[in-house]
Amino acid sequence: MGLLDGKVALITGGARGMGAAHVRLFLEEGARVVFGDVLDEEGKALAEESGATYVHHDVTSLQDWGRAVATATELHGKLDVLVNNAGILKFRRILDMSPEDFDRVIDVNLKGTWLGVKSVIDPMKAAGRGAIVNISSIEGFIGAEGLSAYSASKFGIRGVTKSAARELAKFKIRVNSVHPGAINTAMALDPDIMAEVDAETFMKSMVIKRFAKPVEVSHLVAFLASDRASYCTGSEFTVDGGLLT
Ligand code: NAD
Repeated sequence: MGLLDGKVALITGGARGMGAAHVRLFLEEGARVVFGDVLDEEGKALAEESGATYVHHDVTSLQDWGRAVATATELHGKLDVLVNNAGILKFRRILDMSPEDFDRVIDVNLKGTWLGVKSVIDPMKAAGRGAIVNISSIEGFIGAEGLSAYSASKFGIRGVTKSAARELAKFKIRVNSVHPGAINTAMALDPDIMAEVDAETFMKSMVIKRFAKPVEVSHLVAFLASDRASYCTGSEFTVDGGLLT
């Protein structure tokens, strides 16, 4: 038996990185999965290989949200899990960052998450239950040089998560946030960051002295999406190898 047997999940930003790991693990755990992204080529390739359904889905577009949710409910009859995973990072110090770049990071990471919560309430009410997992970051707890917009967006996700948890409990919808540390994906290996951060020194500051594999985050996300997390809502779960310790 899988942890997510019978669940229908929508995962954003699922074409690569952690999102793709969530897609694969959710399938392994018995869920039926629809995932979206703006990277159509990668998304279609993953869909073909895995058996999940890919939909072009820009999380800043309410219209795209409507299409993604409709794809899940029309194909599978319901929607009971949302993983708000899509995100972008622009490494720029405040003096060097344009207001447009700041807006873009907030739009994708924070407003995209809020639009997702808003878009799944009706189908989850119809399903009689739901679980929403919002991917924040350890930068949702601390600041970092060059990451003012990213960090602000990830702090903001905590507010959306806690407010939504309070609003939606009456519909049996649970809402939690996950805060990864350093995970081995294209985002963590961003060339602008790599040019400034000495990976070896950074690694020495960790308790578990390595970057995580994306699937090490997926296991926590799958738990929170599952009925085993039935008493967890409005909570913040760190998966950072002790980085914040
Ligand atoms: P990634 O860049 O590999 O994946 C992000 C995915 O989101 C990509 O597939 C990208 O195309 C997609 N995306 C970007 N803009 C989008 C949009 N407007 N609409 C839909 N999809 C969009 O990075 P990742 O590391 O896998 O990041 C996944 C999540 O984890 C992000 O929210 C990120 O902020 C968070 N995170 C990452 C790390 C890390 O160390 N990698 C740490 C903490 C949190």
